[in-house]
Amino acid sequence: MNYEPVIGLEVHVQLKTESKIFCGCPAKFGAGPNTQTCPVCLGLPGTLPVLNKKVLEYGVKTALALNCSIQPFIKFDRKNYFYPDLPKNYQISQYDLPLSYKGYIDINTDGSIRRIGITRLHLEEDAGKLLHEGSDAASSYVDFNRTGIPLLEIVSEPDINSPQEAYEYLTSLKAILKYLDISDCDMEKGSLRCDANISIRPKGEKKLGTKTELKNMNSFKAVRSALEFELIRQTKAKENNLKITQETLLWDEKMQKTITMRTKEEAHDYRYFPEPDLVPFVIEEKDILSIKNNLPELPRQKYSRLLASYELSEYEANILTSDKNLAEYFEIGAQIYKNYKNLTNWMLGAFLSELNNRKIAPENSPVAARDLINLLKITDEGKINNLTAKAVLTEMFNSGKSADVIIKDKNLAQISDKGMLSKIIDETIKENPSPVSDYKNGKENALMFIMGQAMKKAKGKANPKIINELLKERMKNA
Ligand SMILES: [Zn+2]
Repeated sequence: MNYEPVIGLEVHVQLKTESKIFCGCPAKFGAGPNTQTCPVCLGLPGTLPVLNKKVLEYGVKTALALNCSIQPFIKFDRKNYFYPDLPKNYQISQYDLPLSYKGYIDINTDGSIRRIGITRLHLEEDAGKLLHEGSDAASSYVDFNRTGIPLLEIVSEPDINSPQEAYEYLTSLKAILKYLDISDCDMEKGSLRCDANISIRPKGEKKLGTKTELKNMNSFKAVRSALEFELIRQTKAKENNLKITQETLLWDEKMQKTITMRTKEEAHDYRYFPEPDLVPFVIEEKDILSIKNNLPELPRQKYSRLLASYELSEYEANILTSDKNLAEYFEIGAQIYKNYKNLTNWMLGAFLSELNNRKIAPENSPVAARDLINLLKITDEGKINNLTAKAVLTEMFNSGKSADVIIKDKNLAQISDKGMLSKIIDETIKENPSPVSDYKNGKENALMFIMGQAMKKAKGKANPKIINELLKERMKNA
């Protein structure tokens, strides 16, 4: 029998506000343990939370970008559970009236657009962090810097039909969040976290199967691998008439498999009830409208515009707009350099590979767009050849110097002087009698060899066009 997976994703995003969601403590990542806490986020008795306005604004902004409806009436709820990283023993979250609901993201799969529904998007506070490393086996440490960091929880509909689609959904969602500039979305730092649930059913069947929940994936690739693993595991179980249990599984990245964390019987009852310390309130229509009118251009809009404006292929437009800052870099370049094709080739080739080799984001590139364009113009003028230009770009990344300075300092300018090149050719011909006679006997390839030798003699700096012309001429007369 053919089975199809039904996948839903739950994403937690830390908002990059200056301060925490219910107190004035800094929300910055990386400070020493427990240096960013106060009575409110430590959950001391008698303290009162106050909602950070920026958090609400970022929440509405994201909801609108994800095509969600905004709840007019905002209220928070307490989610009760006991855990050492949660000093109040409850988390302030939203339960029956989430900030927003019923949205969607359009994702690109195999060239066609698929619409993935968003069930809800709500605001909540993050919990602290337990540190097991560096402590002896009998104890763990807790860092409360993270308690009260604002979180957005974004829950998708179970519309996702393959592990690859889950990957595309996450990539598209992250791009939107980055364009909105509301989060770092850094999975390694935990500012973006994803849980997945998956069940399978016979193709064509409407009824949902028993689902399992997957946790502990620390990259989008890990989410895809965990779902692929779970899909195979569930399919095998069905084929062997084994029962699939509703349970929470942890992804073991090293072993590339899932392990049981807890079964449903142990699942929490959170005893939600309205948070009495935060009064419910209404978001005014005009405030929503003002946020809506100030939304930045989003990935799919930028994709369509770049595709139409710069003679790009769909593939090229897709990569360039996958990152807001990469697209901006391209557009700054395109304003001063009209050979869009060449600019695109350089950006998607040498430039991206220099960035990737150094694990640098486009916005932190030591080579500004106008510096790259300067290098392209120098190359177009024939001052250096393409190969040298690539080496110059590497040197620009390494040293931060401009192309002009590097070419001058390292004496890299191309030799176009015919007199000098003729001399080099004469010497090369003298030194390679047998390839020369091979060529005369009709072996065309021999010319490439002689040309290579001449280039070597010129330390790679000979103008290839001129040396090729001169060599052909000389060989005719030789
Ligand atoms: Zn605090």
